[in-house]
Amino acid sequence: MSEIRCDYTIDYMLERGMTILKNTMNKKNVKFIKPIIAVLNLKTYIVNYSEFCNSLNREMIQIQKFIENELKCKTSLVNNLDKRDETMISLKIEGKYKESQLNPIINRCIETYILCINCSSKNTEIIKINRINYIKCLDCLSERSITA
Ligand SMILES: [Zn+2]
Repeated sequence: MSEIRCDYTIDYMLERGMTILKNTMNKKNVKFIKPIIAVLNLKTYIVNYSEFCNSLNREMIQIQKFIENELKCKTSLVNNLDKRDETMISLKIEGKYKESQLNPIINRCIETYILCINCSSKNTEIIKINRINYIKCLDCLSERSITA
């Protein structure tokens, strides 16, 4: 009677599975969360702002500065606006803006600060060399300076 041998232990297979999963998760098409925009008392809120910035792998201040520059207005961070999640921080924008006005700015922000122009990955980080900010792509490793 021949014995069926398995060269792979369950541990090995599990570990291998996890590595493949991890690599897939780190690779390309990093999904970013769509900002939820709400208007209340002549102010505009990006309700899920902290979640949105996290998904972009950016500091809240970086995105905030960009939005302020684009809209030429003041913004501030507020909490407890999102009842689903008490840890969520929202961005309060002075003035009333429609989603159709904010979305192009958010898209431009993503193109300027996040997207790799070489491979279109959003899996990037900002690095600073000699006071110049660069976007480094974590997928194709290309770098570009931020000109905006
Ligand atoms: Zn790239």
